[in-house]
Amino acid sequence: MNQLSNSIQYIKGVGPKKAEKLRNIGITTFYDALHYFPRSYEEKTDKIKLIESQDTKKQTFDVTISSTPVLYRPNRKLSILKVKVQDDTASALVVWFNQPYLKDKFKIGQKLTLTGKVKRSYNHIEINNPVQESDDKYQNINKITPIYPLTKGIKNSDIIKIIDSVMSSALSDITETLPYSVIHKNNLVGIKTALRNIHFPNTMTNYLDAKKRLVFEEFFMFQLGLMKIRNRVSSKKGIKFDKNTDIQKLVKTLPFDLTKAQNKVLDEIMADMNSTKIMNRLVQGDVGSGKTVVATIAMYHSVLSGYQAVMMAPTEILAKQHFESVSNMLKPFDIKCGMLIGSMTKKNKNIVKEKIINGEIDILIGTHALIQGNVEFDKLGIVITDEQHRFGVRQRLSLANKGINPDVMVMTATPIPRTLALILYGDLDISVIDELPKGRKPIKTYPVGSDMSDRVYTFVRKEIKQNRQAYIVCPLIEESESLENLKSASQMYEELVNSYFSDCKVELIHGKMKSKDKEEIMNNFKIGKVDVLISTTVIEVGINVPNANIMVIENAERFGLAQLHQLRGRVGRGSEQSYCILISRGSSKVSIKRMNIMKETNDGFIIAKKDLELRGPGDILGFKQHGLPSFKIANVFTDIDILKEAQIAAKKIMSDKDFLASDEFKTVDYNIQKLFINIEEIDKSF
Ligand code: ADP
Ligand code: MG
Repeated sequence: MNQLSNSIQYIKGVGPKKAEKLRNIGITTFYDALHYFPRSYEEKTDKIKLIESQDTKKQTFDVTISSTPVLYRPNRKLSILKVKVQDDTASALVVWFNQPYLKDKFKIGQKLTLTGKVKRSYNHIEINNPVQESDDKYQNINKITPIYPLTKGIKNSDIIKIIDSVMSSALSDITETLPYSVIHKNNLVGIKTALRNIHFPNTMTNYLDAKKRLVFEEFFMFQLGLMKIRNRVSSKKGIKFDKNTDIQKLVKTLPFDLTKAQNKVLDEIMADMNSTKIMNRLVQGDVGSGKTVVATIAMYHSVLSGYQAVMMAPTEILAKQHFESVSNMLKPFDIKCGMLIGSMTKKNKNIVKEKIINGEIDILIGTHALIQGNVEFDKLGIVITDEQHRFGVRQRLSLANKGINPDVMVMTATPIPRTLALILYGDLDISVIDELPKGRKPIKTYPVGSDMSDRVYTFVRKEIKQNRQAYIVCPLIEESESLENLKSASQMYEELVNSYFSDCKVELIHGKMKSKDKEEIMNNFKIGKVDVLISTTVIEVGINVPNANIMVIENAERFGLAQLHQLRGRVGRGSEQSYCILISRGSSKVSIKRMNIMKETNDGFIIAKKDLELRGPGDILGFKQHGLPSFKIANVFTDIDILKEAQIAAKKIMSDKDFLASDEFKTVDYNIQKLFINIEEIDKSF
């Protein structure tokens, strides 16, 4: 019998409590466990003598305990256990933090094998928080130990044990997910081998082969899914809007001239809208390039042609912002705008819904509320989503579902190179607004070391006293990271509130807060009730607070360049000179180079390109914030070569009629559907 759907509770040692915790990290069945991939690996290092140890390196030693362990408790939250050890070349001090129970485990003369980070100054050797070999029997068997993403109450060794035991009973039930011809042609390993070796590789080569196969599969399925959607779109007829509408009437009332890039993109949109082709277009434009105006003109065109328009934003504050600016631009014309967001009363929502279905509202702007409630349109012509990467393919399509083949436009500020965009958004045509409006004061960017903090915050204070506002961003702290050099947002808040900003209005926002509270603070910042906003990276993309002119980023070296660029884009929107100050605690060559790129250019595309060049494999930080489709194991930057191979393979399959009719394709198709959750729903959209 197939065991893959067995509950994880079948495994010895997994009771209801552990099962619950595992469920929280996505493991409920044996199948899930096999597909819970390691975050990284630890290669056991060869043992060396103490005398050969090197500063800051992680090394392994055979040693003997030479002193009685001593436990210190400097404060309630901290315990330090110190033990002297030696081998025949030298002696060393071993230090364990917060593991007081180890005290009773050690006796003089006892032999240990320890792996830990060494701190060495001349002849003083210290080993910090080492693991003992006997702690983990799996570490002894394999040279390469998988390190899993963990949650409170689940240890790495727990997951290893669970997966090991699932593997011995259920790996044989896994069936191949890729077509045989594709496996063969691309030199991939089979799915069973891949799953075994992604968890427990014997060699690095084993691991790399496994990873390649899994990455390939993910890209391959993704590409096939996009191609399927695209085929459907192109086989249907869309709305032909009225080519004689006078959009210039609106353009003329704007307080500025459109940039060349805006005009070019507008032409592309108009060509789509005025043909029977269903528009399915990604409009990419750096922060501040003026996407909203372009969207407004497209919606205006739709209304003049006798159709409604809808625009969806990822947060209420952005939806409100759009509602205000769109209503404002359309004020001179007889066009009715409405807003639908979650926080409205049921009564007000119903009033809006009523007006939409009656056609009394021409343009509707809102959040997820647009797709959640039973919103129906009278005659929907165009669907626009802003900051599209926050919405999945499915959400985008379910909004489109509200009309009969409406045109679809998605807007994003994520600056990714065109080649990559073509692959990742394979189902969309791409337009790029590659120019900023004239007359903007370029933001001054200063990379500084942490020793400059005092000057930085004194400067920020001065600006605030002149009624400006500032953002201060700190990196998120992951559980596994060492806290030494990181400034966490709440710590920063405490420090600053009690010093530089003691007489200013300072607020803190972080990812763990309720979104309602976050939005309230953001809103207060927007209307000037808050001077300084300290946050992790939850500051909304697209938020427009022209009076905020300073962006300080703590531990800037921890962010991806593209992300730094996005953050920087929050300022420089008003008439005052804006500043972006990057405080970094890293002095590595790459880190300095990265900060200098930020200083030298303000062009999102150049930054994205350099970002790719400077990222080595294994440099994972910041990827998630890129706003690209998130893959389980694949990485669109480091795995770009595999992505290309997968795209070629997918194209080939899609043009092979015999294969599309085969049973083998049915399996593949099933997997595509799983990836897109429910392709049926997508089907309905077109
Ligand atoms: P994006 O959404 O692309 O980040 P917005 O559409 O919010 O940018 O535009 C940013 C600001 O620039 C807005 O205040 C907008 O009115 C203004 N703007 C847009 N286009 C132009 C232009 N061609 N010239 C001058 N200002 C512009
Ligand atoms: Mg925008």
